[in-house]
Amino acid sequence: MKRLWVGAGLLLGMLALPQVAMAAGGATTQLFLNGKPLAAEVPPRIISGNTLVPVRIIAENLGAKVGWDDRTKQVTVTSGATKLVLTIDKPEVAVGDKTEQLEVAPTIVEGNTMLPVRFVAEKLGLKVTWDELTRSVFLYKKSSGTAAADSGANGGTSGAGGSAAAGAGAAGSTGANAGAGTAGGTAAGGASAGVAHAAEPDPDSKPGIVQAIDFTGDRLTIKTNGVTTKPNLFHLSGPERLVLDVPYAVLDEALKAKLNGTVGEIAVQHPLAQKIRFSNYSSDPPTARIIIDLKGRAELVPVEAKQLQPGQFAYDLKLAKYLVVIDAGHGGKDSGAISVTGKMEKTFNLAMATKVSELLRKEPLIEVQMTRSDDTFVELDDRVAFANTRNADLFLSIHGNKYTASSTGTETYYYRDESLDFAKTIHKHLVPATGFADRGVRQEPFRVVKGTTMPGILVEVGYLSNKNDEKKMFDEAFQNQVAASLVAGIKDYLNIQ
Ligand SMILES: [Zn+2]
Repeated sequence: MKRLWVGAGLLLGMLALPQVAMAAGGATTQLFLNGKPLAAEVPPRIISGNTLVPVRIIAENLGAKVGWDDRTKQVTVTSGATKLVLTIDKPEVAVGDKTEQLEVAPTIVEGNTMLPVRFVAEKLGLKVTWDELTRSVFLYKKSSGTAAADSGANGGTSGAGGSAAAGAGAAGSTGANAGAGTAGGTAAGGASAGVAHAAEPDPDSKPGIVQAIDFTGDRLTIKTNGVTTKPNLFHLSGPERLVLDVPYAVLDEALKAKLNGTVGEIAVQHPLAQKIRFSNYSSDPPTARIIIDLKGRAELVPVEAKQLQPGQFAYDLKLAKYLVVIDAGHGGKDSGAISVTGKMEKTFNLAMATKVSELLRKEPLIEVQMTRSDDTFVELDDRVAFANTRNADLFLSIHGNKYTASSTGTETYYYRDESLDFAKTIHKHLVPATGFADRGVRQEPFRVVKGTTMPGILVEVGYLSNKNDEKKMFDEAFQNQVAASLVAGIKDYLNIQ
């Protein structure tokens, strides 16, 4: 027999709730209940750090009855002896006969009533955790709570019913919360119309099981019983590790038997991996953790689910490439400096950037992207955003300088301290390649080196206002030589042979 509130979803259709509209996808926040993703018709919204979810999710998944009063704009959420009354655009919420304050008031977004999920779920006795890495809200409903509700109904019903009837007061709420956490809760069951029904474990609330961890060739395969969701993958450095947390899951007995203390180890023979370790990382919520200890930079590339058995997750271990962004200064309507013979700086910059990029594309450990690959105008802030949003490892902007006719030489600019080593390394390779005077590594708050978040530098190869510099700067062989020196500097800095 199902829980009493199983009809809440149907009931919802009869209530005069604001219309729930279908919204386009693109939700960045995901909701999980006991490790299973919850399909929301409207994506959750984050407002001032609080996740608001459509009321339907609360009714259908969190085991609550939801009512709506159009006149007062009030949402009533009832579960067992817990009763919450929330009002659109008001932070005050009635919890039984008490009033509490919400950080963010319920609101209506595109016709959908949105409620703060943490507050409501916690009041309903669920455990709520937020994972910043995956931008996910994890809700955990414990089975003992629902079982306890039943035992309450079977046992001393009059007492429990009485306290609930007395107005869903403090005692009732506490009972519901305690019931969710321990076997002792009695209030929740008696409240809902006093219908007794048999206790049954909630299949949703059993953690998933990690049954096997295999590493063959380049592929790591995690076999589970299918209950858990996709593992959370992240990278830790010093020493380099790749970590997979399997949410709401535990190791099975065979894997547990291999633990030495709390951690098990799998020996691997791989150029990128030293070994694999695994553990029951956390018990609340249950989380199984798998760690690959690396020999150097590497990444795990997820294998598509359709290539795998149900319940399996697999990843291929690959060399992690460095992303280098090459920025050809100026472009389009912005010609940059005009040279002593009337040539444009933007043309020199693009020729150099193209040559550098072509050389970098031959490097197996480097991925290269150009902020512009033709004569287009790109805003400085867009160049910065280009590199930052791609999480580039390095940013190199190429320019030609202009001052007096006698000015000559090569300069490398940086701004943030973390860029200084990169600037020095590039400059060391660049100056002998140009053969111009060494005008040093300099600190200037140029927008592209100031705003980028990775080591970022700007080179002024030479002076377009100087006859000698300019002649060379538009010479093909000179450009090739300088491009090669910039690539050598990048590889030197990245420690690539
Ligand atoms: Zn310039």
